[in-house]
Amino acid sequence: MRKAICICLLLLLAGCAPFTSTPPVTRMYVIECGENHVKDLSRWTPGVNVGKAHVFSDHCYLIQHARGWFLWDSGNSDSLAALPNGRTAPNGIITAFMRKPLVESLKELGLTPGDIRYFAMSHSHGDHSGNANLFTSALLIMQGSEYAAVFGPEPQKFNFVAANFEKLRDVQVEKINGDYDVFGDGSIVIKSTPGHTPGHQSLLVRLPKRGPVLLTGDMVHLVYSWEKNIVPSFNYNVEQSRQTILAMKEFVKQTGAQVWVSHDKEQHALIPKSPNFVE
Ligand SMILES: [Zn+2]
Repeated sequence: MRKAICICLLLLLAGCAPFTSTPPVTRMYVIECGENHVKDLSRWTPGVNVGKAHVFSDHCYLIQHARGWFLWDSGNSDSLAALPNGRTAPNGIITAFMRKPLVESLKELGLTPGDIRYFAMSHSHGDHSGNANLFTSALLIMQGSEYAAVFGPEPQKFNFVAANFEKLRDVQVEKINGDYDVFGDGSIVIKSTPGHTPGHQSLLVRLPKRGPVLLTGDMVHLVYSWEKNIVPSFNYNVEQSRQTILAMKEFVKQTGAQVWVSHDKEQHALIPKSPNFVE
């Protein structure tokens, strides 16, 4: 008996404990959720890239947590998949594409929208909320200020499309105000990053092998914008957007997180895409 205890103790001291705990987040699928083609990149990078055409990527992130599937962002609308030439906004600035519907990407993983237990968006613009209406059985997690803008009297004032949220009026919702540790275990933490919209948020995910990753949403649109603190003039609050970037740089310094910019096609070309996954 005493010998057995000694062996256990030795194993523990050697870091070979017989019971190892599984991390709460096991993997993340990075799903291509459309593209936005623009004629003049300088709208996003004031003062530079005037008249330069650009393709922004768009991604959804599906995270496997011990307590259930968590979906971050829902991309361009699946309905765009029927339009090979995409849909051009009335002002002609952006043409949005969706080559493969999100529903198809989920199906490839053996999932349906009903399997998603937790759903949050970085913010409510059309290229992040395009398929939001599919996730009615999930708990919706949203900043109170963003919720008020979306479901208030004038969503169009914030460039939100009310129809994208029609089916979410009566779903279970967790309205938050600031940072929010979703499961209380530090594995998925919503960071309040206002400025682009009133209740814009970013997501810190602690992956078991890669470590912490910060999903920026539209806090910045390009890695270049992150590096140079560049804020487009059409943001809801430009000064607040700048303060947010500086605060998040401090946060990234503290956590050592990698910064993944959803709309940066070049950066995301280097990241494995669903049905492959990152861990
Ligand atoms: Zn946006």
